[in-house]
Amino acid sequence: MEINYDDIKVIGFDADDTLWVNETYFREAEEAFAKLLSEYETPNKIDQELFKMEIGNLGLYGYGVKAFTLSMVECALELSNYNLPSRKMNKILDIGKTMLNKPVELLDGVEEVLKSLSKKYRLILATKGDLLDQERKLEKSGLTSYFHHIEVLSDKKENNYAKLLKHLDINPGEFLMIGNSLKSDVLPLVNIGAKAIHVPFHTTWAHEEVTEKETNGKTYKTLNSLRDVLRILPENQT
Ligand SMILES: [Mg+2]
Repeated sequence: MEINYDDIKVIGFDADDTLWVNETYFREAEEAFAKLLSEYETPNKIDQELFKMEIGNLGLYGYGVKAFTLSMVECALELSNYNLPSRKMNKILDIGKTMLNKPVELLDGVEEVLKSLSKKYRLILATKGDLLDQERKLEKSGLTSYFHHIEVLSDKKENNYAKLLKHLDINPGEFLMIGNSLKSDVLPLVNIGAKAIHVPFHTTWAHEEVTEKETNGKTYKTLNSLRDVLRILPENQT
């Protein structure tokens, strides 16, 4: 079915893995963590236990690197049967700090797309995670000036988006969200009457994966590259 974007006035962008690289750094960190704890368990088991710990802590800590670091610490304590040497504990903290200090690597075409769309549409950034870390990344990205509004949400569910749109006086029918996560950037929007475009990143955190049943019957577009957005939105070049 052809989707009509004529009514769109405001476009929301996800940040992590939509505008810049993020998940890759988590994969690297998980690898370093598994290596550090290799005397206690196999890499696979360590991965599984860390994921379980993250999901278990999500309600208390929320998303982001700091929450991830605390989960690594707790997971390492359990896997070592509470005999974790303090230098290993320190190495875990270093893994977290290394993630926080990563440069911001923009994905292909990001600046070109924002520049072009900002001439016709009001752009907002809607991301979840740790406030300080997201602000730091945005600052480093050099993209701040393209956005009318920046929102760091504690989660990206239907009610979070509905509240945000209401607060900004945006009619859902005039809002388009673009992001890499079906679960966080696409389905909640479609469910509240907004439009959404899915631009997948090559790696997805298991927690963000959705079943076919969840996407069944939902109308949204999937594009290979952010650049393709320019092709499908009306007169964005003016
Ligand atoms: Mg994302």
